[in-house]
Amino acid sequence: MAAGAERQSLRLPRLLIALAGLLALAAPPASAALRPPIEQQRLAFWPERVAHTRAWSQFMYGTDLFQPRLIVQHWTESTTQDAAISYWNTSPEATWVHFIIDQQGRITQLAPAGVLAKHAFGVSPWAIGVEHVGTSDGEVMSDRQMLAASYRLTCWLRKRFKIPLRGVIGHGEVTSHPRFGFTSEGWDWIESTGYRFHEDFSAQTMRTYRSRLKKVCSSLTDKILQQRSAPGTLR
Ligand SMILES: [Zn+2]
Repeated sequence: MAAGAERQSLRLPRLLIALAGLLALAAPPASAALRPPIEQQRLAFWPERVAHTRAWSQFMYGTDLFQPRLIVQHWTESTTQDAAISYWNTSPEATWVHFIIDQQGRITQLAPAGVLAKHAFGVSPWAIGVEHVGTSDGEVMSDRQMLAASYRLTCWLRKRFKIPLRGVIGHGEVTSHPRFGFTSEGWDWIESTGYRFHEDFSAQTMRTYRSRLKKVCSSLTDKILQQRSAPGTLR
């Protein structure tokens, strides 16, 4: 190939790379575009809580690393958000989660999403926790505002941490999940305390939740793609 023709053929890929760069600057990553409004409120006893949770996880699971592969849905067993947060704030050893959603669809983040939390016995080192203010599956699943916020939050978390639909589970599904398990000391603790595993967000409820979530996530993603391809996006 002649030098002139070679220069000509190199120009097009360079132009494409420059255009891709401009697009990347103009559009935030898909995960950022999916992020719903989130209020911030850190839990009490923060340094002690983190230290305790790491030691607890080492004892129960043999690791203190957090590798988010699951999003576990819960309800609080309370009628207000304040009651749930007060309970989690009783001591650094109390259970806790990353997010809570109230009846007005307000999402509050209680801890960074990339930090190991103490909320779903058997899968905690892999699970981001989302609580819904309520006392039954039926109550939460019939609250449209709360659910709309729940789907938006979960879609964003799925995108951000690359978690597939099957990685969104209910607290009531934890004991049948392949990742469920403990160290032998952990099993001894479960046995000696007579710990009873929770049943909030059962398998039946989660079948409905996941099928609605799938639709919401794809429609949100479609909307973002449409906005990005609309004329004037680059301006
Ligand atoms: Zn729960």
